[in-house]
Amino acid sequence: MTENSTAAARAVALTKLYGSGEATVRALDSVDVEFHRGAFTAIMGPSGSGKSTLMHCLAGLDVASSGRVYLGETDLTGLGDRALTEMRRERIGFVFQAFNLLPVITAQENMLLPMRLAGLRPDPGWMAQVVTQLGLDERLGHRPHELSGGQQQRVAVARALLPRPDVIFADEPTGNLDSHAGAEVLALLRASVREVGQTVVMVTHDPVAASYADRVVLLADGRLAGDIDGPTPDSVIGAMRDLGARAC
Ligand code: ADP
Ligand code: MG
Repeated sequence: MTENSTAAARAVALTKLYGSGEATVRALDSVDVEFHRGAFTAIMGPSGSGKSTLMHCLAGLDVASSGRVYLGETDLTGLGDRALTEMRRERIGFVFQAFNLLPVITAQENMLLPMRLAGLRPDPGWMAQVVTQLGLDERLGHRPHELSGGQQQRVAVARALLPRPDVIFADEPTGNLDSHAGAEVLALLRASVREVGQTVVMVTHDPVAASYADRVVLLADGRLAGDIDGPTPDSVIGAMRDLGARAC
């Protein structure tokens, strides 16, 4: 129980089925996992192992078939659509592979949009700190198409950080970036964990990206298949190899 009190998010016997009858896919099969507060956790596993499904269920973007999902003390399983939407807006930050910035508004407007929708204003000191740390001071008035991929993803990271969410979920955040821009984004996510205690859960297929995390949770065929503390690229590659999977 003591461990539960430090979990920012957790799944209990989480099962997710897609389709029905003979076509049923068991994307998650009774998964029990906790994501610690103030930690950077990576979720890895072969393609189709259930990484995105797990993240979507934890973030209230998808609904469990059975089992439970908690964000802190809140049981998401019983929440209706409206309560889930509100919870996502107020307590969760997202970073996606495809950046998902609105093209017609500036970097600054993109950063502030989720808070605006929730009727919230960022603390000015925190906003200035995030913008400076992410190297975006000179870019605030730019539209997304005037920014490089790495800059766009940094805007998306700022957008996720500003409301100080309980958890930031990132699905393949470096998948569209070259290795240099990817390393910058990973270092910024890690710094948010180290410096302000942000909780980050990241899906990746890249052992180097996973090595930025404090811990790696491995999935295979919708089940938990390993847990690595203090991952290095080599330990992650070894664990993936043991799963019988190519690093994919
Ligand atoms: P990963 O992110 O690890 O590649 P996913 O969570 O996307 O894996 O998918 C896990 C399994 O569930 C796969 O077999 C996938 O084909 C299936 N799946 C995912 N989403 C859907 C969906 N919306 N409808 C049907 N099957 C799905
Ligand atoms: Mg996926």
